[in-house]
Amino acid sequence: KTWNLEQVDPWRWKIRRHGAMKTDGLVYATEEMLRAIQEEQALEQVSNVACLPGIVGYSMAMPDIHWGYGFPIGGVAAFSVEEGVVSPGGVGYDINCGVRLMTSHLTLKELGGERIKDLVSALFTNIPSGVGSSRKDMKLKDAELDRVLEQGAAWAVAKGYGDPSDLEKIEEGGCIPWADPSKVSAKARERGRSQLGTLGSGNHFVEVGVVEEVYDPGVAEVFGLHPGGITVFVHTGSRGLGHQVCDDYIRILLKSASKYGIHLPDKQLCCAPVESREGRDYLGAMGAAANFAFANRQMITHWVRETFEQFFGTSAERLGLRLLYDVCHNMAKIEEHTVEGRLRKLCVHRKGATRAFAAGHPAVPPVYRAVGQPVLIPGDMGRYSYVLVGTDRAMAETFGSTCHGAGRVLSRHQAIKSARGRSIAKELEQRGVFVTAAGKATLSEEMPEAYKDVSDVVAVVQGAGISRPVARLKPLGVMKG
Ligand code: 5GP
Ligand code: MN
Ligand code: MN
Repeated sequence: KTWNLEQVDPWRWKIRRHGAMKTDGLVYATEEMLRAIQEEQALEQVSNVACLPGIVGYSMAMPDIHWGYGFPIGGVAAFSVEEGVVSPGGVGYDINCGVRLMTSHLTLKELGGERIKDLVSALFTNIPSGVGSSRKDMKLKDAELDRVLEQGAAWAVAKGYGDPSDLEKIEEGGCIPWADPSKVSAKARERGRSQLGTLGSGNHFVEVGVVEEVYDPGVAEVFGLHPGGITVFVHTGSRGLGHQVCDDYIRILLKSASKYGIHLPDKQLCCAPVESREGRDYLGAMGAAANFAFANRQMITHWVRETFEQFFGTSAERLGLRLLYDVCHNMAKIEEHTVEGRLRKLCVHRKGATRAFAAGHPAVPPVYRAVGQPVLIPGDMGRYSYVLVGTDRAMAETFGSTCHGAGRVLSRHQAIKSARGRSIAKELEQRGVFVTAAGKATLSEEMPEAYKDVSDVVAVVQGAGISRPVARLKPLGVMKG
């Protein structure tokens, strides 16, 4: 299949508008990456998204692109609120899956020798994880669950999980105000009730790491990142509740397409006009699931702090365990962006993509506003991860968006096959990383080689100017779901 691919520069490729496409596709990748990307259906998905009504700007793909349900993972697409659509496939099953990063006063010395093993084991004891993991001690009643779905991270803080000052370090302040719990089905509630405060499986993790290299000392200083400083990542989302919301609304929105006369090149792109009843209902439910995810990450953050307190025998404040930032990487949001000189209200879908707002944007917390939004890019459990910062170029070109990770190169199945006869845990230990996992196949499925080298991905977004590296982190101990 020919893609009408046109190279713009070393980092950008255009898929020229063809067939039913309403706009061009824009793929951020090197030529070498593109070769791998072309083997999947992901470029076809970029073209398909470009066929949806009301799309504004390009249908975009970040360098961590791979095949996803309907929209590619690594996809960014914005639609006019008046004439465009919202699509569950453009958000993904794990609504508001995201990453947060904590910094600390701790240094490598304090985690020397076998200590990291004990710390990870303690995290593993204190944070419920694994497929369908649930908390027997907490089955939320409907009224309480409604408050979680309305308030997000603020609910968790009010219950004693973390500090009010955490809230300003979370995208959207940890609460989607237009969330509508009444649009979340009984089945979704049932799945979420006992899963709040659980990590989940596979790709989700809590990771203790260290700042290995700083690229931008000025910005790193503002973010609280110092060479040798200990950090903690938390990666999880909305668990079964978000998954069920996605499932429920895919079913509903499949009907909307014919009702509103929307031509779908692929049924998985089912969607509804943003301002239709179905569109609003989905957004309300999606916002509620997003708030569940914000509360979830907030609770886990609290248990991370408690674990460190027990382990080091001192308070989290003295350890300096501060939240740097929390980003969403599976979301659709109503945002205002300047397009061709005109301020427009858009429904921006970021699926496996991260918001990366530039310095000065009012949505960037006051403490970071002078430098730009922190962007958290996990790599894999063996090599490294990055912290980037948003740029003006991202505002102008990608609706303030960038990549979200390394992206898989091997399917779970392929990874399991390639791990046969190996001990991934031992291999990682030789690299100085101690790992535990709840699931039996997790370490195989998630081995570093299952992912692209995240530095290749970061080189593309840096080269293209849609975000800028601030620091690189190395994993020391990882608790996988
Ligand atoms: P996703 O939400 O798409 O599953 O994952 C986001 C990204 O996290 C992946 O693309 C991958 O690069 C990264 N990742 C997955 N597992 C780990 C891990 O254990 N540690 C770190 N640092 N990154 C990971
Ligand atoms: Mn994720
Ligand atoms: Mn997830």
